[in-house]
Amino acid sequence: MTEKIDIVEMFLRDKLKEKEILRILEVPETHLNLYADKFGGRQILEKRYVVVRPKSASDVAKIFEVVKNFDYSVIPVGGATGALVSGGILPTKNKVVFIDTRSMNKILRFDPDSQTVTVQAGVKIAKLQAFLKVRGYWTPILPGSFRQATIGGAVCTNAISPFSTKYGRATSIVTALQIVFPNGKITEIGNKTSFDNSIMLKDFFLSSEGRLGILTEVTLKVYPFPESRKVAMFGFKNINSAISTIIELRNFGIQPETLMILEKERVIYEALQNVSLNSELNYAIFIFVSYSGSKGFVASLLNHTISLVKKRKGVKLPDKIAKNYWKNLTKGYALPMMRDVSNEELRVANLRYNSVRIGIPLHKLPIFLSYERKIRAKLDMLVYVGTSSYILLPQADSLCVSGCLIDDSSKIAVEQFKTWERKLLQKAKRIGGSLCAATGLGSMYNEFAVTEFGDSLESFNLIKRTLDPWKILK
Ligand SMILES: Cc1cc2nc3c(=O)[nH]c(=O)nc-3n(C[C@H](O)[C@H](O)[C@H](O)COP(=O)(O)OP(=O)(O)OC[C@H]3O[C@@H](n4cnc5c(N)ncnc54)[C@H](O)[C@@H]3O)c2cc1C
Repeated sequence: MTEKIDIVEMFLRDKLKEKEILRILEVPETHLNLYADKFGGRQILEKRYVVVRPKSASDVAKIFEVVKNFDYSVIPVGGATGALVSGGILPTKNKVVFIDTRSMNKILRFDPDSQTVTVQAGVKIAKLQAFLKVRGYWTPILPGSFRQATIGGAVCTNAISPFSTKYGRATSIVTALQIVFPNGKITEIGNKTSFDNSIMLKDFFLSSEGRLGILTEVTLKVYPFPESRKVAMFGFKNINSAISTIIELRNFGIQPETLMILEKERVIYEALQNVSLNSELNYAIFIFVSYSGSKGFVASLLNHTISLVKKRKGVKLPDKIAKNYWKNLTKGYALPMMRDVSNEELRVANLRYNSVRIGIPLHKLPIFLSYERKIRAKLDMLVYVGTSSYILLPQADSLCVSGCLIDDSSKIAVEQFKTWERKLLQKAKRIGGSLCAATGLGSMYNEFAVTEFGDSLESFNLIKRTLDPWKILK
C-alpha cells in the first residue's frame, strides 16, 4: 500500500462505516481453479487494494466524491466471474478502489402484476432465482457462472444464457436501472415495461461493463414456471443440413427457448456421461433444442421439429444424451465434463478450460468452423473441446463459444492459445461478426477495441469524457 492509498482510505473511512472498508477482494475460488489463467488474471485478483462494500447508491456517490480528488481508478466488481474470461476488472491505473457490489444484496420489490422484480445490483443470480422459485417464477438470466455472478455483472456484460434464443440477452430482460455517475448523481432510467423511451440509454449503460457508472438497482422481467419443458438433441451428417433445419424451423414459426448447434467434441465432452458410445458419433454436427409451455403444445412443437429434422436426414438421439447436455448447461459452471475424466483429474494435469466467444451470422458458421480447424492443425498443445453455438431467433445469429483445454503453466501452450484466439477474432470480423459477443470486451480484448468498434469508438470516448472527466472508471 502506498501512502496515498492511506489518504484515500482515511477519507473513505470518514464517509462510510468502518466495516465497509476492506483490503482484500474476496473472489470465488471455484472458477479460479477451473478457468485457464492465460493473462495472469488470478494474480491481479489476488493483489490487495482498498475494497469498499457500499450498501446503497448514496454510499457509492460518497465513494466517487472522495476518489475524484485523487489519481485512482474505481472498479466495480460483482461475482468477479468475468475476470478470467474477459479480464473485465483489470485496472488501468496502479491505484484502485474496488467497489465490491455484493454488499448491495437486497431484493427490493417483487411485482407479479407487472411481472417484474427490482433488486440491488449485487444480488447473486442464484439468490434471485431461488427467491423467485418459491413464488412460482423465474427469470431467463442464467449464465454458466450464475452461482457466483451478480445481476449487475450479468447485465453490464449483456450476458447470454441458454434461454437467450427466446428471451434475448440480459439487456432485453431488464426494464429499468439506477446508476450512479462519477459526479455522484444518482439517476433512474426506464420503467416496469420493456418500452424504453429514453433513446435506449438503458441498453447503452447496461452493456458498458462499468465504464460509465455504477449500477445500483436493476428491474427485470420474470415469468411463471412453464407447465412443461422438454429437450431434444439431433444428429446431422453435415452442417449445412443443420443450418437449413434451423432456418426452416424459424420460418415455420416455431420458437424454442434454447436452440444450439454443437460440434461433435462438445457432445462428447458435455453430454455423454453414462452413455455407451455408439452410432451417435457418426454424426458431424448436432442441434439441441428446449421447448417450454403447456404439455400438449410442447409435445406438438417437438413433433414438428422431428419432422423438419427428418426432411434433412437428421436423427433424434436418445433422450438421455439431451438430458445430460441440459443438466451440464444449466447446473452452473458449465465447463466440459470430459467423458471418463473428472474435473479433478484435469486440474491435476494442469489442464484448464478457456474459450473465445464470437458472434457471427449463422450462414457463416461453416466457414468459421472450417477456418478454426485449419489454424488449429498447427497448434499441437491445444486440446480442442469443440464449438457450441447459441442461436438467437428470429435473427438467426450465432454466438460461437469455441473452447480448449490448455496447460496454462506452459508458456508455449498459452502462446498457442493466444494465437488461436487472435486468428479467430480477426476471422470473425472479416465475415461480418463481432468479437466480444458475450462477456463484454474486457481488458483482455482491449487491443481489438478499434477493430471491433471502428469509428464508433470515438463517439463512445466522447460520451465517456463527458460522464467521467476525472477518468475514474476504466
Ligand atoms: C465458468 C464461467 C461461465 C460463464 N458463463 C457465461 C455465460 O454463459 N454467459 C455469459 O454471458 N457470460 C458467462 N461468463 C462470464 C461472466 O461470468 C458473466 O459475464 C457474468 O454475468 C458476470 O457477472 P459477475 O457478477 O461475476 O461480474 P464481474 O465479473 O464482477 O463484472 C463483469 C463486468 O461488469 C462490471 N460490473 C459488475 N458489477 C457492476 C455494477 N454494479 N455496475 C457497473 N459495472 C459493474 C465489472 O467492472 C466488469 O467489467 C462465464 C464465466 C465463467 C467463469
